[in-house]
Amino acid sequence: MKKRKLIITTTLSITMLASVAAVKPAIPRDEKIESKVESTLKKMTLDEKIGQMCELNIDVIIDKEQSQKQKRVVLDKAKMEKVFGKYKVGSILNVPLSRAQTKEVWQEVIKEIQDQSKKNIGIPDIYGVDQIHGTTYTAGGTLFPQEINQGASFNRDIAKRVAEICAYESKAASIPWVYSPVMDLGRNPVWPRLWESWGEDCYVNSEMAVAAVLGFQGNDPNNIGKDNVGACIKHYMAYGVPVSGQDRTPSLVSERELRERYFKPFMNAAKAGALSLMVNSAVNDGIPFHANKELITKWIKEDLNWDGMIVTDWADIDNLYKRDHIAKDKKEAICLAINAGIDMSMDPYNVNFCDLLKELVNEGKVKMDRIDDAVRRILRLKYRLNLFDKPYYNAKDYKSFGSKEFASEALTMAEEGEVLLKNEGAILPLKKGAKILVAGPNANSMRTLNGGWSYTWLGDGVEDYAQEYNTIFEALCNKYGKENVVLEEGVKYNHKGKWDEELAPEIGKAVLAAKDADVIVACVGENTYAETPGNCNDITLSENQRNLIKSLSKTGKPIILVLNEGRPRIMQEIEPLCPAIINVMLPGNYGGDALANLISGDSNFSAKLPFTYPSKINSFSTYDYKPCQNVATMEGAYNYDAKLDVQWPFAYGLSYTTFKYSNFTVDKSNFTKDDILTFSIDVTNTGALEGKEPVLLFSSDVVASVSPDNMRLRNFQKIDLKPGETKQVKIQIKGSDLAFVGLENKWILEEGEFRIKVGDQILMLNCNQTYQWDTPNIE
Ligand code: BGC
Repeated sequence: MKKRKLIITTTLSITMLASVAAVKPAIPRDEKIESKVESTLKKMTLDEKIGQMCELNIDVIIDKEQSQKQKRVVLDKAKMEKVFGKYKVGSILNVPLSRAQTKEVWQEVIKEIQDQSKKNIGIPDIYGVDQIHGTTYTAGGTLFPQEINQGASFNRDIAKRVAEICAYESKAASIPWVYSPVMDLGRNPVWPRLWESWGEDCYVNSEMAVAAVLGFQGNDPNNIGKDNVGACIKHYMAYGVPVSGQDRTPSLVSERELRERYFKPFMNAAKAGALSLMVNSAVNDGIPFHANKELITKWIKEDLNWDGMIVTDWADIDNLYKRDHIAKDKKEAICLAINAGIDMSMDPYNVNFCDLLKELVNEGKVKMDRIDDAVRRILRLKYRLNLFDKPYYNAKDYKSFGSKEFASEALTMAEEGEVLLKNEGAILPLKKGAKILVAGPNANSMRTLNGGWSYTWLGDGVEDYAQEYNTIFEALCNKYGKENVVLEEGVKYNHKGKWDEELAPEIGKAVLAAKDADVIVACVGENTYAETPGNCNDITLSENQRNLIKSLSKTGKPIILVLNEGRPRIMQEIEPLCPAIINVMLPGNYGGDALANLISGDSNFSAKLPFTYPSKINSFSTYDYKPCQNVATMEGAYNYDAKLDVQWPFAYGLSYTTFKYSNFTVDKSNFTKDDILTFSIDVTNTGALEGKEPVLLFSSDVVASVSPDNMRLRNFQKIDLKPGETKQVKIQIKGSDLAFVGLENKWILEEGEFRIKVGDQILMLNCNQTYQWDTPNIE
C-alpha cells in the first residue's frame, strides 16, 4: 500500500523534468495555406479584418414580409448590401425562418450569400449551422439518435458514422460548418442539455469526440473535401455542471477538475484536427468563460499549439455586460473578450460590434497583433474548408442524401442506444400475437422520439416533417398487427404550450382499455426542449404520469415501462410497479422501429447507461465519486456514514443473453508512465441469443495524494458474440493513463497499487515510479 506522507516527499525527489521542447502543432501546418492566408491578410483593410470577426444571424438579412408573402426564403438586398458591402461581415449562422429547409432552398440561400460576399469582400462567407444528431435543419436528411444514445452504445463507430453522414447531407445543402459535436460532460442530471452530450464520463466523451471530428472532417483537416464539413467543438468547457442544474448558471469547478476531466475531450478533439471551438456561455467561479484568457488563449491555443478558430456562443459578448456585469458596456465587453482570445463574435443581431472594435483598435486597447491573429485563424479556416475555390455545391451531386441505406444505419444505431434496465421474470421479449395497450404521453409522438434540435430548435415542429416515420405505437402495430395493439394515452402533453405542460389527464380511459390487453407498454418521460427553455426545478417524473402508472398497475396487467426522456426523470416510486423498464432516451426517427425490434426479440439490447440514474432528488452522484461519498458507519459514538442511493449505476444495462468474464490477465504487473499495459480477458456468451457487449476497463487508484475517484473508465471495446462463443478481448492502456492532476495542479502518476476491473474480474497492478509532468498536458 502507498503511504500518503511518503508519496508527497517521494513525488518531490523523484520528479523528473519533462522535456520543455515546443509542442508540435495540434493540426499540421500546410505551408501553401499559410502563405495564402498571409497574402490575403496583407491586402485587407482594418474594416475588412474586423468584419471577418463578426457573425450574424440569418434573420438580419431576411426580407420577412416577402418571405411570408411568397412562402419561401427571400433575402433582403438592401440589408445584404449593409452587412456585406458596408460591414464586410465574414459569417452568417442559423436556419432561415427558424425551421428546417430543403437542401435546394439551402443551396440557393448560400449561393446568394456567397455571391454577395465575393462581390463585396472578395472573401467567401463561412455559414454555420447547428446540425445536431444528423441534419437538424435540412429537411429530408437523416436524423440519428442523439449523442446521449450514442454514448449508451459505447461504440465509437456510431459517433463517427453519424458525423460522416451528417457532413455529407449538410454539404448537399452547401453548409460548410456545423456547431457540433457537443462534448460537455453531462454530470448534473437537472441540466436541460444533458442529452446533447455522450454522458457523464470524460473518457467516453473524449473518444466519441475524436471519432465525431474525424467523421465530420475526414482525415485531412487542411483539405476538407466535398463530402465533409468543418466541426466546431463545444461548449468550452464544464458547461454541464451548473451548481443549480439550470442552463447558463454558474459552475464552481477547480483548476484540477478542469484539467483532469473537462479539458480532456476538447484537447483530444483539437489534436484530432477539430478546426474550430465554441465557448461555454456560463461563468465558472465568477469568471465568464468568454473573458477567461488563461483557458481560451493559454490552455487551448498556446499549450496545444492549436491554430483553429474560436467563436463565441450566442450573444455572449453582450452577456459580459448585460448579464455578468464584468464590463460597463458593449465596448468594454468586446475589449475583454477579444483580448482574452475570442476570434469571432456570434453577435448575432448587431453590426455595432464592428464599429466598437474599430474604436478599440484605434485607441490601442486591442492591439493590431490580436486582430491579425484572429483574422489569420478565420482565413485559415476558410482556406482549409476550400471555401475560396468552392463556396457552394450542387444538391444534385449528393445522390445518397436521405437514402434508405442511411435510414437503415440509423435504425441499427437506435437499437444499440436503447437501454434495458429491468426484465423481471423475463417478461421480454414479448411474444408475437400478444395484445398490447400502448399508453402514456410519449406513445404516439415523433416529436418526443427526436428531442430538441430536430427540424426546429425546440423540436416542436417535428410532426410537420416526420410523418413518414413510426411512433412507438405505429411501430408496435407494424410488429404485432394493428388488431392486437390499442392506443390510449391517458396523459397527453399540450403540444401547443410549453414543453412541460400536460392536458387534463384521462387516466380512466387508459385503465378501461387495459381490460383486453395482455400487457401494457407505458411510454412516459418528457416532451421536447432545448437549452434554457428546458430548465426544470424538479426532475421527478410528472405527477400525472406517475398516477397513470399507479392506476394501470392496479389492473394487474404487467407494465413494460418505456422512458423517453432527455435527462433521467426520477421514478423510484413507480419502478416497483413495472416488471420491465427500457430507457430509449432520444433515439431519433427510427427509435420507434428499433424499440419494436427490441421488445419483440428480433434484435437484442446491448446499450448501457452513459450516466448515473438518480433515485431521489437529493441523491445525485456520478460513478467516479470520491470515497467519502460512500462510507460505512464509523466506529464510536457518532455516525459519519454516507450512502450512495442511485436508481441505476453508470454503465448498467441488460441483454437477452448473459456474458461471463474469465481469464483476466495483464502482461506486466509493475509499470511506470511509459509502459503500455496489455490486458486480456475472455468473454463468453453463456445465453441462447446472439448479443453485443461493451467490455469496459475501469481503474481505481488505491491511495493517492488527492482523494482518488472511486473508479475511472480507461478504455472500452464493443464485441459481438454468438451463443456459446468466447472471444479473447485485448485492451491496452498507457501507464500515464493512470495519472491524475495532483496537489500542484500538475499531472502526476504516483507509485503504489491500482485496482483494475473488467466485468466482475479484478487485477492488482503496481506503479513503481512516481512521475510528475512539468508540461501542462501529458504528451
Ligand atoms: C447554443 C449553441 C448553438 C448556438 C447557435 C446557442 O444558443 O448554446 O449550442 O450552437 O446557439 O445556434
